[in-house]
Amino acid sequence: MRNIYLDHASSMPIDPRILDFAEPFLKSGFGNPSSLHSMGLESKRIIEDAREKVAELINAEDGGYIIFTSGATESNNLAIKGTALRNIKKGKKVATSAIDHISVINSMKELLKSGFELKIIPVDSMGIVDTGKLNDILTKDTTVTSIMYANNEIGTIEPIKEIGEVVHEKGLYLHVDATAAAGRIPIDVQSDGIDLLTLSSNDIYGPQGAGALYIKPGVKLQPILLGGGQERGLRSGTEDLFAILGMGEASRIIKKEMNKESERLREIRDKLINEILKIEEAYLTGHPTRRLPNHASFRFSGIEGESILLNMDMKYHIQVSTGSACTSKTLEPSHVLLAIGLKHEDAHGSMVLTLGKSNNIGEIPLIIRAVKETVERLRKLSPI
Ligand code: PMP
Repeated sequence: MRNIYLDHASSMPIDPRILDFAEPFLKSGFGNPSSLHSMGLESKRIIEDAREKVAELINAEDGGYIIFTSGATESNNLAIKGTALRNIKKGKKVATSAIDHISVINSMKELLKSGFELKIIPVDSMGIVDTGKLNDILTKDTTVTSIMYANNEIGTIEPIKEIGEVVHEKGLYLHVDATAAAGRIPIDVQSDGIDLLTLSSNDIYGPQGAGALYIKPGVKLQPILLGGGQERGLRSGTEDLFAILGMGEASRIIKKEMNKESERLREIRDKLINEILKIEEAYLTGHPTRRLPNHASFRFSGIEGESILLNMDMKYHIQVSTGSACTSKTLEPSHVLLAIGLKHEDAHGSMVLTLGKSNNIGEIPLIIRAVKETVERLRKLSPI
């Protein structure tokens, strides 16, 4: 039976064109980009080329404003702790939404130990940040506000431009985690009014092990990782050249292909949503229209997400997710589903489908049948 992969928010396969692009560099070997000899200079050139490509994906002023990291978690940590600690004289408050990624929330919680105050901005039942509450909560001493561009568990796209206007009127800097949104919807850091923005290579079909942080000209932050002073002194450590050059090429490819691919996936997504909502007591989570084009997320009453995931995988060879891969170890209900107002028992019955390049419209009947049979079977077995 053919495999159908529907968990692109957790990990994406590398685009094979990136491997072709990287092959000559991998074969000839990389010099250390900090070395002054010709092999070092060639590696430095490769990194600068990747920086430009990442900058173009988000319309940054220039490649010089992109810092490479090991991934989105590190970018979020650097953006939040680095900016808050460097600007401590301006204030000791930070704010984030109730549905932001755990790496954002935990970076902010870490700041509590240094005497910071953390404000959580509520969202509505669709996951949209309440800009009225944001306006009430932020004060001039809120140095960093972090709101994600789009949510990885429920697909909701936030009104980032509006949020940026509130932040710049009331607080200081807006950091945006664009891990789930980049490459699926257009992002323009300049017109969106974003001061810092997180990206992840593997979420745009690039290799694992690279991420990026955009830092707007003039924004000052202190490093978290100290050492040889690479990446403008903001992220020391010898660069992961394969991951970085792969992330650059992934950015170039996805920028070129995004509109067409998102349109293709949106059609599959809408058909899946229409059909799955015909199942009794099946509900969409997240916003019905302001959502990522590759994202369909649901909850089913009376059954457990983990059982759905295992049944779909073992019986139908279809890989889905039950929420954030990052917190699935704890089996606690997702903080995102609780924040949109679901009761604990309802938050346990979630299923998230995230589409990507390997999916096609012909797979829809198989997926629908698998979901229907799985829900039916588990409900029959359920004691509830
Ligand atoms: N932010 C968001 C929105 C995510 O979905 C993820 C996980 N893909 C991360 C941050 C963390 O990414 P990573 O584990 O690759 O560092």
